[in-house]
Amino acid sequence: MKKIILLTLILQLISCKDKQDRLNLKQGVYISNITIISSEDGNYSPYIGHLVIEKDKIVYIDKSEPSVNGKFEEIDGTGKFVIPGLIDSHVHITEVQGMLPYHMEKYPELTEEFNNQMPRSYLYYGFTTLINLGGISEEQIASFNRHPIKPDLFHTGRSGASVANGYPMNFAPEQFRFEGTPNFIYLESEADNIPDRFDPVDHTPKAVVSRIKNSGAIAVKAYYESGFRGMPKLPVPTKSIMTDLLNEAQSNGLVLTVHGNSLEAHSFLADIGVDVIAHGLWNWGKYKDLPNDSLPKEIRSVLDLQIKKQIGYTPTLTVLAGEEALADNSFLSNPELSKIVPKKLMEWYGTEEGQWFANELFADYTAEEVHSIYGNIQEHAKLVLKYLSNNGGLILFGTDTPSAPTYGNQPGHNGFWELKLMNEANVPLNQILASATINNAKAFKLDSDVGSIKVGKKANLILMTKNPLKEIEAYNTIEKIVLGGEVIVRENLSVK
Ligand SMILES: [Zn+2]
Repeated sequence: MKKIILLTLILQLISCKDKQDRLNLKQGVYISNITIISSEDGNYSPYIGHLVIEKDKIVYIDKSEPSVNGKFEEIDGTGKFVIPGLIDSHVHITEVQGMLPYHMEKYPELTEEFNNQMPRSYLYYGFTTLINLGGISEEQIASFNRHPIKPDLFHTGRSGASVANGYPMNFAPEQFRFEGTPNFIYLESEADNIPDRFDPVDHTPKAVVSRIKNSGAIAVKAYYESGFRGMPKLPVPTKSIMTDLLNEAQSNGLVLTVHGNSLEAHSFLADIGVDVIAHGLWNWGKYKDLPNDSLPKEIRSVLDLQIKKQIGYTPTLTVLAGEEALADNSFLSNPELSKIVPKKLMEWYGTEEGQWFANELFADYTAEEVHSIYGNIQEHAKLVLKYLSNNGGLILFGTDTPSAPTYGNQPGHNGFWELKLMNEANVPLNQILASATINNAKAFKLDSDVGSIKVGKKANLILMTKNPLKEIEAYNTIEKIVLGGEVIVRENLSVK
């Protein structure tokens, strides 16, 4: 008996060895001689090597040439660069950019064309993983996943854990807002404004997180927003609600990511120690009129606490840029947009009706005034980001595409824009790449599958002709996208 076991062991060892030296592929991709840029911790040491994919997994990566047999596609990577597929940890795929639900109903053709192109547009700019941080229904998830080519989609359930009548449920008419936010949190102070048909027991942090978990979500989205643009003051979560949400999320293996862009919000969330803050800190409150060349001490100490606790910080600089774009007449004539936005929708944006949000926001301002107001806030946002980048903050790439019904935040294109804005904020290129790959993967517990180029991980890769550790424009020199082992030529993803 012992002999048989020994013999089996030896045979197993031989077959493993054989597998290492000679890869016999049934269906694979062999990328040779390419500069491999990947990291498990944000430190990069690129090298020229070889990569083999079988089905949807990476099975070989090394400086030495493998011996590959069987059925496979070979890509000569000479002079080119490969990075892991990009992860955007803050998107909303349930909207049509620039439209309200009313417009989507009125123009079903534009909506359908947009929805068919949207997953391809994300891939066009290298985004192979998306995390939807707002309410999404099972039907919306299924409909996205029916597309033959689409990024991997993760979500936060049927709705965020908004406090009753707080942001963002305040936007919905009162008669629909509770049904539309099935995961709202019961707030004692709002008891008189919550319809009796809702039992408080179903709306505790525990009940809500359990529902979100059961819907297949990977994270819980919460909010700390007391209002903006002259809104009446909104109810916000108490310390005990946010702490309970954090504990419930963590004990269910979920990540708590919280909307917040003000000093008040970032300070509150840093104290509690949430996992991720889903926006940058650009609303400086009483410091809003300060010049943008130095950080007030109070803001610095909030950031120091975030750094100490390694709270994920999502800059979302395109929130501001994508609104500001509405004041910019030349935005819609950017030739890059025509590659990822259907033509008819582009035309609609140019109509008086398509300009509704621009008119609502900026009718009383000149373009110059808008640029001056937004420019100042954006400089504050960049200053905060740079401070975190210099001092070991945990930066997570996220765009909030679209952050409002603006046509300024287009799928994929907005991600490239965000990368460029991070670069303008002087975040080093290695940190930018890490934020969109390994940092996001670890923060959202996806790193056993994606976020780096490693044997056993999913083959989501980007092949580009320029080096993203040398220039930010490299992200717009993508040639091919490998999506779960399938090689897609970038140009085939653009609008037909
Ligand atoms: Zn958002």
